[in-house]
Amino acid sequence: MADHDLLIIGAGISGLSMAHDAARAGWRVQVLEADQRPGGCLCSHRFGGALDGFWLELGAHSGFNSYGNLLAILESVRALDRLQPRAKVSFRLFADGAVRSIPSQLNFSELLLAPFRLLRAKKAGHSVADCYGRIVGPRNYAAVFEPAFDAVICQPAAEFPADCLFRPRPRRKDVPRGFTLPDGLQTVADILAGQSDIPIEFGQAAREVWRAGEDFGVRTDRGEYAARALCLATPVAVAAELLRAEFPELAAALARIRTATVESVGVALPADRVSLPLVAGLIGRNETFYSVVSRDTAPDARHRGFTFHFRPGVLDEEGKLNRIAQVLNAPRDAFDAGNVVSQVNRLPALRVGHGDWVSAVDRALAGNRLALTGNYFVGVAIEDCVTRSRREFERLRRQGL
Ligand SMILES: Cc1cc2nc3c(=O)[nH]c(=O)nc-3n(C[C@H](O)[C@H](O)[C@H](O)COP(=O)(O)OP(=O)(O)OC[C@H]3O[C@@H](n4cnc5c(N)ncnc54)[C@H](O)[C@@H]3O)c2cc1C
Repeated sequence: MADHDLLIIGAGISGLSMAHDAARAGWRVQVLEADQRPGGCLCSHRFGGALDGFWLELGAHSGFNSYGNLLAILESVRALDRLQPRAKVSFRLFADGAVRSIPSQLNFSELLLAPFRLLRAKKAGHSVADCYGRIVGPRNYAAVFEPAFDAVICQPAAEFPADCLFRPRPRRKDVPRGFTLPDGLQTVADILAGQSDIPIEFGQAAREVWRAGEDFGVRTDRGEYAARALCLATPVAVAAELLRAEFPELAAALARIRTATVESVGVALPADRVSLPLVAGLIGRNETFYSVVSRDTAPDARHRGFTFHFRPGVLDEEGKLNRIAQVLNAPRDAFDAGNVVSQVNRLPALRVGHGDWVSAVDRALAGNRLALTGNYFVGVAIEDCVTRSRREFERLRRQGL
């Protein structure tokens, strides 16, 4: 008999939420994670040395009270009281070399009919540019909304499906509208990974996956694992590669989803060395970066932190640090190995027609004890990942082991 009921590859929020649901249902779960930490895109860098105690987000930065499935999980592990409301600071645009307020960049006469157009707007089957360009008008779209949407999903948003960008969801009134946690959003992953019924092996990259009758085998560099069911909770390109030998058609479908790369650089500075007003972040227009995400939403008395999410392949490391220094109006030599951190993030570049793609993938999965979850199904937000994991676990449970 297989050692585990469910083997989960990847300890990002998709894999961890799947593990949570399965463990709560009494399944014997094992998670394998390539990295040395849980969280994937929930990546809160915690500094040491002179910056000890300060952290900044290299990936996701905000949860919301509309994240019902995530909140239900946090509630079930008694962690709701750890949510910290985001400080009320606003986003601004960084355009033509200066920080500008968003209203100053809007054309209000073009916006007059936007509420009516919004009511009539059809998102399904339309791209972000097509749908929102019509609602807010072409000038507003180019000046404000396009850069803002690029910033939200850290990639060119124009061709992204409009119905995968913002999903209306009910809001819980008993939790902060926007939140983080002490030491950053990665704490969500740390909490789940710390549950005794969710064993995780770190530094264990899955290299090969195969079927053994109805069960599954997985090979890592350090050993082999057998399980009655398998869940891939990795970025889509990794899932495609792992499925190539045993599920070639599924792998070919996954390979059709392109990957958008984001080159993220976080910097921390003493608060008195930064003249930029308090901001939630900056939206780059015609810039080398999509956005700058600020730690001002979780203010610190001594330091400020900023993560620049750069467009890929535009600037080298030195070019990025020069641009950061210019935007923050700080000397270049204010940055060194002690206060600069980098990470490459990868996100799926979804396209119109994605719903049909998901339906086809779900048809191929039906009846199999193979589950696929991640940010390439419902959408890229954390809640979308948790929602997908819940649906996939319910399917496995209905099918039975
Ligand atoms: C810069 C940025 C900002 C964002 N901001 C927000 C935000 O504010 N709010 C929001 O809701 N969403 C945000 N998102 C989106 C959201 O964070 C992600 O879509 C989500 O966290 C993805 O979770 P995941 O578990 O599906 O994938 P990942 O987080 O990518 O996790 C996949 C895991 O699989 C592991 N893995 C990969 N290959 C293997 C292998 N072969 N074997 C074992 N393990 C493997 C990886 O190491 C990783 O831990 C942001 C994303 C980015 C990049």
